Amino acid sequence: MPTNGHPSGPAAAAAGWAAAALADCRPESYWLDRADAPPATPRLTGGTGARLAVIGGGFTGLWTALMAVERDPSADVVLLEARRVGWAASGRNGGFCSASLTHGIANGIARFEAEMPALVRLGQANLDEIEATVRSRGIDCGFERTGDLAVATAPWQLDGLAAEAAAATQLQTSASSSSSNCLLYRSL
Ligand SMILES: Cc1cc2nc3c(=O)[nH]c(=O)nc-3n(C[C@H](O)[C@H](O)[C@H](O)COP(=O)(O)OP(=O)(O)OC[C@H]3O[C@@H](n4cnc5c(N)ncnc54)[C@H](O)[C@@H]3O)c2cc1C
Repeated sequence: MPTNGHPSGPAAAAAGWAAAALADCRPESYWLDRADAPPATPRLTGGTGARLAVIGGGFTGLWTALMAVERDPSADVVLLEARRVGWAASGRNGGFCSASLTHGIANGIARFEAEMPALVRLGQANLDEIEATVRSRGIDCGFERTGDLAVATAPWQLDGLAAEAAAATQLQTSASSSSSNCLLYRSL
């Protein structure tokens, strides 16, 4: 229990352990803090014009700009990034790439039960398209289609895992999905 706003007991021990484990870490993007990181693109200093301006150089903005140019190779597209492309969440995530759009089936059922067949189908299609894009563009990101493994670390988690497995089987059947999968695109 917190005492005067400070954790005590096991919480304090966990906080101390975490602080010690992170003591020599720097909050940098792994991908940009390397000798082989690509150089930053030049700053935009003057005015510019475009038919389409995309704000933000993370996955969302980059994918948007890429799709716009793929759809119309003559498209006039400018992508504006406030800091560096890949600087934010897209350059610092855990590296797993999952078909789930709902952070797990149980979570999805709890919130969007009626839409879950569609969400499972769209999540699979999304993952398939990510894989197809990585392969067709030769993106060197260690992409692997590994499957999805959930593990109980305490006996009380077993019932929940069994329920989730049953729901996954039923949903994937109703959504006509090809396979249950998840993949690592780079283990750091
Ligand atoms: C610690 C962490 C771990 C994660 N792990 C995973 C994982 O393992 N698997 C997974 O699928 N997802 C994971 N995620 C989520 C995933 O990384 C994000 O959902 C995804 O990267 C979001 O991409 P984005 O392009 O929308 O945003 P961002 O990558 O955050 O990019 C937004 C960009 O917009 C720029 N910007 C913002 N405002 C402006 C402005 N006004 N003008 C110009 N530029 C602007 C920012 O500088 C930034 O570069 C993780 C996220 C975090 C933070």
